[in-house]
Amino acid sequence: MKAIESYIRDINDFPKPGIVFKDLTPLLNSPEATKLCLQELLAQVDGQHVDKVVGMEARGFFFGTLMAQALNAGFIPVRKSGKLPYETISETYALEYGSDVLEIHVDAIKPGDRVLIHDDVLATGGTAAAVCKLVERLGGVIVQCNFIMELSFLNGKDRLRAHAVRSVLTY
Ligand code: IMP
Repeated sequence: MKAIESYIRDINDFPKPGIVFKDLTPLLNSPEATKLCLQELLAQVDGQHVDKVVGMEARGFFFGTLMAQALNAGFIPVRKSGKLPYETISETYALEYGSDVLEIHVDAIKPGDRVLIHDDVLATGGTAAAVCKLVERLGGVIVQCNFIMELSFLNGKDRLRAHAVRSVLTY
């Protein structure tokens, strides 16, 4: 079995010139690598009780649902503005140029629910910080922010200082 990092490929100049995009589709294309990655993500949870796994659109959905199933927890999607059909609350967060909006269903989390936040990549931390705010506004207790990859040179952890942050791979 090859190491997980060998299934992540760098795509230069995607989605914009100068960006090196970490592509996890080769990992998803291998059942063995997917199983191994899931095991490692679950090991990061370290047996803590989790009621809900929140996954960010769209790449947080892949392992977010697998983790939720393995943890016997519910899966909650966080999506871009206007995609969720029921009543939502939203958070606006800054991008390099401009801003974006993330939404969650108002009834997705009950006060006191223990919540694991999952995404594929932690870059600047803006996305995960906005998701933490959504979860806390609904009364959720954040157990951990859980990622496959952390791009440590972008210092995303600084924006998540109030929370435990774990990543399978650090670049
Ligand atoms: P941040 O808000 O700057 O931390 O960016 C994290 C978000 O952008 C996550 O939802 C990721 O899916 C996405 N992202 C940023 N860089 C990459 C990458 O290299 N590969 C895949 N997704 C990325």
